Amino acid sequence: MSTLNLSRFSAWQLMQMDACTRCGECVQGCPTFAEAQRDEITPLSKLTRFRSFAKGQHGGLLARLFGHRPPTDADIRLFSRGAYDCTLCGRCRVVCPVHIETRDIWIAMREEMVAQGAYPPLFDTLRATLAEKHNIVGEDNAQRMVWSENLEAPLGDIVGRRDAEVVYFAGCVSSFYPAVYGVTQAFVGILSRLGVRFTLLGGDEWCCGFPLHIAGMGDAALELARHNVEAVRATGAKRLVATCPSCYHTWAHEYPRWLGEPLGFEVRHATQALDEWIADGALSLKPLEAKVTYHDPCDLGRTSGIYDAPRRVIRAIPGVALVEMEDHHERALCCGGGGDAEMANAELTAAVAKRRLAQAQATGAEYLVSACQQCKRTLATAARREKVRIRTLDVAELVWQAMQ
Ligand code: SF4
Ligand code: SF4
Repeated sequence: MSTLNLSRFSAWQLMQMDACTRCGECVQGCPTFAEAQRDEITPLSKLTRFRSFAKGQHGGLLARLFGHRPPTDADIRLFSRGAYDCTLCGRCRVVCPVHIETRDIWIAMREEMVAQGAYPPLFDTLRATLAEKHNIVGEDNAQRMVWSENLEAPLGDIVGRRDAEVVYFAGCVSSFYPAVYGVTQAFVGILSRLGVRFTLLGGDEWCCGFPLHIAGMGDAALELARHNVEAVRATGAKRLVATCPSCYHTWAHEYPRWLGEPLGFEVRHATQALDEWIADGALSLKPLEAKVTYHDPCDLGRTSGIYDAPRRVIRAIPGVALVEMEDHHERALCCGGGGDAEMANAELTAAVAKRRLAQAQATGAEYLVSACQQCKRTLATAARREKVRIRTLDVAELVWQAMQ
């Protein structure tokens, strides 16, 4: 038997769980349930089970009649499988008629699963790796700039410079996964061509902590946040730009909350910065005759509310025809690569990605463009596996291509 710590949930979250009308809209809208078809995955099931755990533990009519019955270890194990086979895409919040803020509740539920010791063991490795190496892949963090080694125009001595206007926060995935080095390479190409005084933190860039936060290990992310904020403040730059939507969201929305203070500099996603430079006339883009479809990354769209900036950037390229997939903007399907789901269940990630890829293929687009290195990685892998001829690119890469 396990006793749940309900104080981890706010009164508002407990009220929202109680407000679920069991309409089942979220069951139809959940991309992981669509693939795995296991009841414990559905948002409805997670809310119903958790509510019954709480009632069995704390009261309610049945508890009064039959006595208090906390969840068994088997109940918790099954619940945990559902909690981690979720990409935290937030689509369930959008389709829910009573607007239950599901994503935050799912993260709080994972925190409780960590407290119960019921979570995928790989997350212990992640926590230890980040504590020791400060990046998700466990490599020497001094290698963070490895992607810049064979640039046509070498960056020179820009790491940690003190006269920068902008800090470019590259993020773990596009710093260490060769398949997406193109994102960082394109973005520094654009910054250099525009003459922006920018810097990177190099080995002083630590993982933003997002993977730990969403695994339910937010406590362990705090040290990473403190280090990163101090490192950026030390540069004196007034703006931080991230190409990764999860890093962006963590910097813009989580760090001020975790640290309980303003950062002292502004935070932008790369697509917002590109959009501003295009509006200012700073970026000149050459024609690119291409049919493009745009995949909304969950952490940029539903989690951060940024839908228009990337579309304006794509449309600003002369000759580009932007076509939408069947599900787009708030209703966009997930690529499968979010929520640490790939670590918990790589097969599920692949199945979700396949469905999204099919929507992109149906548009007849030559380019599947996203604004996230992880979406690019997941969708490119799906395209290779399914032998679908579509080029996956980040918005920064598309823009850089139009600048050649
Ligand atoms: S966040 Fe996404 S994957 Fe998770 S339950 Fe909601 S719809 Fe399903
Ligand atoms: S859509 Fe909302 S109200 Fe309906 S079952 Fe799902 S969580 Fe409950």
